Amino acid sequence: MSLRAFLSSRVVTPEGVRPAAVLVEGEQIRGVVAPNRVPAQAEARDFGDAAILPGLVDSHVHINDPGRADWEGFETATRSGAAGGYTALVDMPLNCLPPTINLAALEAKREAARSRCRIDWMAWGGVVADNQSDIEPLAAAGVSGFKCFLVHPGIAGFTMVTEEELRRALPHIARTGLPLLVHAELPAPIELATERLALADWSVYQTYLQSRPEEAELSAIRMLLSLCREYKFRLHIVHLSASDALPELRAARSEGLAVTVETCPHYLHLTAETIAKGATLFKCAPPIRSMENCERLWEGLREGTIDLVATDHSPCPPEMKRFAEGDFRSAWGGIAGLSMALPVINTEAGKRQFALAYIARWMAEAPAKLAGCEKRKGRIATGYDADLVVFDPESEFVVSADRLHYRHAVSPYLGEKLRGIVKSTYLRGRLVFQEGEFPGEPLGREYRR
Ligand SMILES: [Zn+2]
Repeated sequence: MSLRAFLSSRVVTPEGVRPAAVLVEGEQIRGVVAPNRVPAQAEARDFGDAAILPGLVDSHVHINDPGRADWEGFETATRSGAAGGYTALVDMPLNCLPPTINLAALEAKREAARSRCRIDWMAWGGVVADNQSDIEPLAAAGVSGFKCFLVHPGIAGFTMVTEEELRRALPHIARTGLPLLVHAELPAPIELATERLALADWSVYQTYLQSRPEEAELSAIRMLLSLCREYKFRLHIVHLSASDALPELRAARSEGLAVTVETCPHYLHLTAETIAKGATLFKCAPPIRSMENCERLWEGLREGTIDLVATDHSPCPPEMKRFAEGDFRSAWGGIAGLSMALPVINTEAGKRQFALAYIARWMAEAPAKLAGCEKRKGRIATGYDADLVVFDPESEFVVSADRLHYRHAVSPYLGEKLRGIVKSTYLRGRLVFQEGEFPGEPLGREYRR
């Protein structure tokens, strides 16, 4: 196998950012050396001052395939992932039909993914009201972990779990040693608030925001932390939006509970104050909250209470966003963010003086660890997959539809000026994205835990 060297003045390694050459042989990284130590036989490519980041790992993606490939699908999700600097996606078990809640459904998903992925992928299994006996078989079959909802997920085919149902599942989950990812909102505060808002104007964002109060997240997180203490399973809070939960999460970690936390680019960039009347593009659950809340989420990242940033890429056909009516009650809640997550985070991180190494930790290393592929992905280091992103962190661009690359070119970021351009993405040593093009055949494969 021939040896190649990827050089840059800014290679982002776990030890920091430095001038280096990443030596690649076949699909793997053979070493990271000083630029003047490249072996003579290596075929060298110098990317100059463009940074080389590890391929990003998105631990929260709704690919919706099989069954709702008209919403998204393996081809389009992995294509937009490659364009966004991702080399691995972990698929959520809902929105697809059948939902990934038993072995047959997992097999159907594997069939749907075959020969259609531009980057690697993994699967989360679902925990619903009545599939406790499917948990250990799914783990044995190679899922990365499990996902459940404490509130109605907004789609048929995947049930939420009550505390009682969750208690029936937890001994099984604890035995697998895999993480349980939880949509942490409890229904009672949402139902109460929504009732009070029956006559309110639902084209106003504040109405929707008030209908999903922080209390829904807080009470869910409290319940989960106490279950975590009791059943000793690995708990992961997906898409934290309520920064008021940070003190309790921080305390839980100091107590030694196995809890990790994620938030999303939209909570770190968009704010409730600027969402226009009828702008249902911005609807997601939990909701985008205040500017002050956003700043506190950044503090959570800084201090490490929030471990990672995942997209919660959740597209739908544009008509489901009900742009004509602008009704926040009936519009689909979900934001598609795969291709723009890195520029969004780079833009905001730059304003707060975070070095690129932080971005690599939040968007590659920590999600790889959550998904169980941390020995192969998420770092530029010897023995890892040669998943590399060539990234220009300083250049600005205006988000246009042709840069999104997922099924429906719908995005709250359209027209915004962002900083940071993905120049090219390499999956296991192969170029899979460059300057808007996707060369070669789809060679992405499933990584089984
Ligand atoms: Zn989600």
